[in-house]
Amino acid sequence: MEEAQSSKNFIELEIEKDLSEGVYKSVCTRFPPEPNGYLHIGHAKSILLNYGLAKEYGGKFNMRFDDTNPTKEKQEFVDSILSDIKWLGADWEDRLYFASNYFNQMYEGAVKLIKKGKAFVCDLTAEQIKEYRGDFTTPGKNSPYRDRSIEENLELFENMKNGKYADGEKVLRAKIDMASPNINMRDPVIYRVAHMTHHNTGDKWCIYPMYDFAHPIEDAVEGVTHSICTLEFEDHRPLYDWVVRELEFPNPPRQIEFAKLYLKDVVTGKRYIKKLVEDGVVDGWDDPRLVSISALRRRGFTPESIKKFVDLVGVAKANSEVDYAMLEYCIREDLKLKKPRMMAVLDPIKLIIDNYPEGETEWLDVDNNQENPELGSRKVPFSRELYIEREDFMEEPPKKYYRLFPGNEVRLMHAYFVKCVDYKKDENGNITEIHCTYDPETKCGKGFEGRKVKGTIHWVSAKEAVKAEVRLYENLVDEEKGKLNPDGTMNLNPNSLKVLTNAYVEPELANVEPEDKFQFVRQGFFCADMKDFTKEKPVFNRIVSLKSSFKLPLQK
Ligand code: ATP
Ligand code: MG
Repeated sequence: MEEAQSSKNFIELEIEKDLSEGVYKSVCTRFPPEPNGYLHIGHAKSILLNYGLAKEYGGKFNMRFDDTNPTKEKQEFVDSILSDIKWLGADWEDRLYFASNYFNQMYEGAVKLIKKGKAFVCDLTAEQIKEYRGDFTTPGKNSPYRDRSIEENLELFENMKNGKYADGEKVLRAKIDMASPNINMRDPVIYRVAHMTHHNTGDKWCIYPMYDFAHPIEDAVEGVTHSICTLEFEDHRPLYDWVVRELEFPNPPRQIEFAKLYLKDVVTGKRYIKKLVEDGVVDGWDDPRLVSISALRRRGFTPESIKKFVDLVGVAKANSEVDYAMLEYCIREDLKLKKPRMMAVLDPIKLIIDNYPEGETEWLDVDNNQENPELGSRKVPFSRELYIEREDFMEEPPKKYYRLFPGNEVRLMHAYFVKCVDYKKDENGNITEIHCTYDPETKCGKGFEGRKVKGTIHWVSAKEAVKAEVRLYENLVDEEKGKLNPDGTMNLNPNSLKVLTNAYVEPELANVEPEDKFQFVRQGFFCADMKDFTKEKPVFNRIVSLKSSFKLPLQK
């Protein structure tokens, strides 16, 4: 993989060619989200790609809100987007821009096109425009308004700007070619009337530019060199080039497309995430079951793990789906050596050591991470009454069950060997407590040479342990049935969130900070919830379990 990463992707090759041929002297990229929702893992790919390229070639990375459509845009989204990008570590320095700040330049650009005879005001309705446009097999028909004089067009466009027309009554269209095999070139609409309040420009404008006209101007005005976007814009590139050429920008930017990141069986599109939020299926954009960046953060993913994931996925020219397991692999790799391995019992049952002195507590010295001595050690209390996982005891064990059962001996991790001598049940047959004896000679893994003990289980001391809430997650959608039904509804997994309210954790885990991360031995990696964790009521999210189905592709 290291090798694969060190070879250049196709965008790097294009950039290097442009630099060596002197097409551009330096590199400027941008990330241009529309502030109409929260960012997701796919956007992270775009952010890290654009920022990474700017850094790699000593260039600039601009942050720009593509806020040319006032209907769906909100300040809440502007704020969340900026905070997510900062958290990911992409730095736009002092270059934070808003497309709406260029409305004047866009207006002037439109006037310039009219004066060149390259744009006209059209009175056809939206349906008529569609009808006249033709399709892949039929060429379009010219609008009857196509040959208006330059003077008339200038006057009508001015009237559009001055609010003389209702929404939809008139549009400005580029005059290109109604017979073009590329439908985007068939006299596309470039300005529309919309009497709406804009979050940035208020009521100043009642005409708004269309994306395909606005975007190349935004790039050109900022001196962007490589305008990197996703594949669905490939067919729009001729229009992008037409706009920058006709507006005669000196050193115009060029558009390069790459494949979107899709995760198999995971809801990524902004539209779908928004629907889950609005329908109350999840509790907000940062619900840890989502893959919005704020949700990944809350779940416990780190910027490093996301960066590693994006690097592993690579930059391709063809769409494909990636397994969520790969993202899980990346967070495990990131946390494995960096975080302490602690003990938490999620579904507790009491274990009593009959021959251990009553009222005594030993503070055992435990390495925080056996694979990384730099993390030091901590003290863990041990006493006569412990909690262990309910599933670590069985009355009648099947074959190959090496944990506790009557007569069997196991190792209590970091402590002693214990042997099960008895257990109690309630009237319904549920086990209520397990009785053991311990062997004082076996403290911390000593003195067991030649003794056959196959199982090691974790535990917490009942007296000192702290009660906690633990949230376990599964995929939001039902993987068997597939993500989407033909009618666009989603197949949801009813078990995507499981809340355990009776977990017990080592006392040290009550003193951590929100967003701190750990391994809970045998259970996975967990994160103190950034919203709900308090020292009085600790709440932990499982980021990922320990087992992986993902294998890194073999190195070449
Ligand atoms: P969605 O399709 O999820 O609604 P969008 O493309 O509408 O997202 P924008 O705010 O327009 O969202 O996107 C900002 C930038 O992020 C664009 O350059 C877009 O191409 C890129 N982007 C969006 N989704 C992905 C993805 N899945 N993978 C890679 N880049 C993406
Ligand atoms: Mg969009």
